[in-house]
Amino acid sequence: MATIAEYIWVDGTHPTALVRSKTKIMPETLEAPDLSDFPLWAFDGSSTNQAPGGDSDRILKPVCMVADPVRGKGAWLVMCEVFEPDGTTAHKSNKRAVLREVMAKAAAQEPWIAFEQEYTFFDGSKPLGFPAERRYPAPQGPYYCGVGADEVYGREVVEEHMKVCLEAGIHLTGINAEVMPGQWEFQCGGPGVDPLTASDHLWLARWLLYRVGEDYGISATLDPKPVPGDWNGAGMHTNYSTAPMRTTGGRGVIEAACEALGTRREEHLAVYGWGNEGRLTGAHETCSYKDFKYGIADRTASIRIPRMVAEVGYGYLEDRRPAANADPYDVCTVLLKTTLGLW
Ligand code: MG
Repeated sequence: MATIAEYIWVDGTHPTALVRSKTKIMPETLEAPDLSDFPLWAFDGSSTNQAPGGDSDRILKPVCMVADPVRGKGAWLVMCEVFEPDGTTAHKSNKRAVLREVMAKAAAQEPWIAFEQEYTFFDGSKPLGFPAERRYPAPQGPYYCGVGADEVYGREVVEEHMKVCLEAGIHLTGINAEVMPGQWEFQCGGPGVDPLTASDHLWLARWLLYRVGEDYGISATLDPKPVPGDWNGAGMHTNYSTAPMRTTGGRGVIEAACEALGTRREEHLAVYGWGNEGRLTGAHETCSYKDFKYGIADRTASIRIPRMVAEVGYGYLEDRRPAANADPYDVCTVLLKTTLGLW
């Protein structure tokens, strides 16, 4: 038996980066490998918007690994950062490297992150569960957390995705059907999960979602507004706390963080996902991208402070603005920089 490693990385596509992967087969069988067992590996950056054709080799450096439940025993999923040919200079598309540097300054604050990743299944050119061309299902209302073949679509893929994420050891904390038919959510990260790990696991979970979808002939999109009109968009609400927010007096720290976030609206929206203006309209449980407000238990705010947090006096905040297609490394970077004064 060999060892099979799927090297996974984020590419340089604009305006929304794509996730890519290729398979490395190592002849030896590694029973309990660690990251150092997986070598640097080159790829063709000219095919991923990461290099010109005349000088196309770019370098993959393994940074996070989990078991590969799709291939099973002896197989691993290996998240990588992209470097220039010298192997030490981070490629400009490598947003994880930026977050690493910010985390070096922020780690003492013990930040935790949990993402709520929404997504929409597509069957060909229409959302799963939508009837044939130019027709629409019954209006929104029964679909969120619904049950029954007339209300939810794609559960078999969702269940399989949950199963492989858990087998891989990804920090998954829940799933639910969303407001629009064919729309779902999974939650990734949570208490004790630092921003780098939460983001690595989110990219791995996205990769697994696409990979599982292949077996069902169903694609998943992270488009923030996959259907125009009176249909919910897809977001990536980001729950965030630091140690001072989680202890007595934390509510004051959370409110100070909200005030700081209000002064950096532009910097945040710039990395919260392409096409997010179509989603942050002020309707459908959002605050307009043109405004900023925070509030307790307020789902029309940019930042929500959960009711329970306000009552006990400490906890976390929820930034409701990131779109489903935002890069989690970017989102964590600006949250840390703004709330910890690291710009
Ligand atoms: Mg949701």
